[in-house]
Formats: sequence, C-alpha cells, structure tokens
Amino acid sequence: MKYDRVTYENKTANMRHREKLYLRFAKKLSEDADKKLRIAKGLCKFCYYDSSRIGGARMTHAVCALCENEITFGNTAIDVICPDCAQREGICKHCGADVNYVIRRKPFTRKDVQDEA
Ligand SMILES: [Zn+2]
Ligand SMILES: [Zn+2]
Repeated sequence: MKYDRVTYENKTANMRHREKLYLRFAKKLSEDADKKLRIAKGLCKFCYYDSSRIGGARMTHAVCALCENEITFGNTAIDVICPDCAQREGICKHCGADVNYVIRRKPFTRKDVQDEA
C-alpha cells in the first residue's frame, strides 16, 4: 500500500467518522433517554442503542435459554431469551445481561435457575 496524501485524508476522515459514531453511542449509553421503552422491550443499553446489530428481515426461530419456549424473530439478530422471561427477570433478551447492568443477589425468580447463594 502506498501512503500518500489521499491515504492520509481518507484515513483521517474515516477515523474522525468513527470517533463521532462512538461518541454518539457513548452519549446514548450515558443518557439512556429511552429507558422506559428499552426496558419494555427487554433490552440492555448496548443492545438497545446499538443500531448496527439489526439483522436481515427473515423469520428466525430459537429456543429461550430460560423457559425453553420457542422464540420467533422478524430478523436474524438472534435473542437468547424470550420477551416474557426478559420482562419477568429484568434480563436483556438479546445478550442475557441485566437490563440495568446491576448484578443482583437473587437474579432469577424461577426456582430451577437460582444459584445457591
Ligand atoms: Zn422464556
Ligand atoms: Zn443486551
């Protein structure tokens, strides 16, 4: 690869753009302006505000990691737990993190998935 004026300008514009995206994303994370809607959707901050994770518009099936019911999605971004479990447990349905990033002592209301604390 030849490094010239064009490379220099392209790289710089590229990284500047990337910085802007990250800063915008960081702002969204810290403001959490859609908190109510986000929690209603059963998503943590990363999964809710990261718009790049939206997959193709194709029906996808998976099995909920908690209740083992079948989950159907309208896109290819696969969730790990069903919306019902996400709501009940306060866990992000997409990645399985606590929706508020707080580690609770008794995270699960379901008896069989409670750990011995
Ligand atoms: Zn479930
Ligand atoms: Zn998540």
